[in-house]
Amino acid sequence: MRIAVVGAGLGGLGVALRLQGAGHEVVVLEGRDRPGGRAYQLQDAGFTWDTGPSLITMPWVLEETFAAGGLDLHSEVSLRRLDPFYRILWGQEDEHLDFVSDRERMKTEIAKFSTKDAAAFDGFMAALKPIYEDGILGAGRRPFLEFGDLAKFVPKMVAMGAAMPLWTMVCRHFEHPRVREAFSFHSLFIGGDPHRVPAIYGALIYLQFLDDVWYADGGVYSLIEAMARTLDVRCGEKVEAIEHRGNKVTGVRLEGGERIAADVVISNGDVLTTHELLGRRAPLRRMTPTMSCLLLYMGTDRVFDRLHHHTLLVGEGYKDFIRDVTRRGRLPSTYSTYVHAPTRTEAGMAPPGGDSIAVLLPVPNLKADVDWERAADGLRDAVVADMESTFGLHGLDASVTVEHRMTPLDFERDLGAKFGNAFAVEPTLQQSAWFRQPNRDRGIAGMYYVGGGTHPGAGIPGVLMGAEVTSGLVTADHPQPRRPAARAAV
Ligand SMILES: Cc1cc2nc3c(=O)[nH]c(=O)nc-3n(C[C@H](O)[C@H](O)[C@H](O)COP(=O)(O)OP(=O)(O)OC[C@H]3O[C@@H](n4cnc5c(N)ncnc54)[C@H](O)[C@@H]3O)c2cc1C
Repeated sequence: MRIAVVGAGLGGLGVALRLQGAGHEVVVLEGRDRPGGRAYQLQDAGFTWDTGPSLITMPWVLEETFAAGGLDLHSEVSLRRLDPFYRILWGQEDEHLDFVSDRERMKTEIAKFSTKDAAAFDGFMAALKPIYEDGILGAGRRPFLEFGDLAKFVPKMVAMGAAMPLWTMVCRHFEHPRVREAFSFHSLFIGGDPHRVPAIYGALIYLQFLDDVWYADGGVYSLIEAMARTLDVRCGEKVEAIEHRGNKVTGVRLEGGERIAADVVISNGDVLTTHELLGRRAPLRRMTPTMSCLLLYMGTDRVFDRLHHHTLLVGEGYKDFIRDVTRRGRLPSTYSTYVHAPTRTEAGMAPPGGDSIAVLLPVPNLKADVDWERAADGLRDAVVADMESTFGLHGLDASVTVEHRMTPLDFERDLGAKFGNAFAVEPTLQQSAWFRQPNRDRGIAGMYYVGGGTHPGAGIPGVLMGAEVTSGLVTADHPQPRRPAARAAV
């Protein structure tokens, strides 16, 4: 049986590895010049930047994905545990809180703000444990194809307190505003406003304490390279149409007109536009895309000691900031950013004495009335000036020797992301599980989905668990004699 995967993002590569490992013939068709999707890499003048994900959690999901494809993760990639995981820095008062894996040290960090909140930490973790076990490990690793699957799961979620907004849950445990912010921002990494996403996404916090936070030498892109190496990935091959006869997939048509026959097609493209490839007039369900990001990739001629490997710079009016970029569709007036400085762990990511710095500012997606051709320069300058004046990174602007950027326009143009979304569709209750794009199409036989827009959702572990769900459906629907078909490593 022949399988065509449309897109070589983490989800596309993950599902291809699994299905190839199960003995299927798989081809991955990627529109860009290299695989990776959001997990792309830029190199310039001796600096290396991961363009998207940088924080690795749940390493066992990677181990399982690699193993299913006949690979040993630890022979392919060197992973290093980070300590601290990251620093959260509130500039105005020069306060900071480090997330560390040791729970007693974590309580000491919280106690800098509130001893009462430090004492509440164990209770918070205990409340998250069943949410992680039932919500992430249970629900995240199986498909939600029938409404009945959801109907059975919802009462459980409610009983665990996982259906209330994440912010509400955090506020029930912690009192200090800084501690509340520190324990609720995690959903932003998958495009979710902590005031709106269900508390099930609080499990993102729990899993870090369970499995730690990791760095892959060479950056996340070393994972992409290792995954792609044993697969038939054809880059520069944009899929123009997914062809089907009646209600059965027959293959794909590339932009140049070439046709590739396939019994199964798995789309790793944006779920908000895949209906166009299928020739459908509208998606099966209208879903809301996440916000976008302005990303700055800066190479500097000096090192900024205030930055840790991962640092969150939290600006004033954090709640309004989130509302502006998610709901109100306004450019923010104060800036909360995530900064990646991998030379703290791997010196070779920048030339000697320099820093390779990636800055992520959440911004509204392209539904908002923002002219990015005009707005990007001014916003970049304002963010960098704020990093200098509010967060003490004095001389940052003057130290930049080389710089690249991504705006919502690049997400749309380079990744085909509808409205320039950075994290696929919003992880709200109404867009999760059965309500999300299902891993198997409800109308066309042989058509499947993988990636941030399908179940269970975005993030490295999310899309790789989704790859497990999708490959499980494909193998169940198309039983095949077990015969390893791994290509020889090049
Ligand atoms: C800035 C940023 C920071 C992030 N940080 C983290 C982090 O630290 N940790 C974490 O766990 N997660 C993080 N995430 C989330 C994570 O990166 C994503 O959820 C994940 O990489 C998405 O993978 P995907 O499988 O959905 O594929 P995508 O990365 O969306 O890739 C899809 C691929 O399909 C290709 N494609 C689309 N249409 C076609 C077509 N018609 N023909 C051929 N090819 C096509 C695209 O070119 C692309 O290569 C971050 C995301 C962003 C944007």
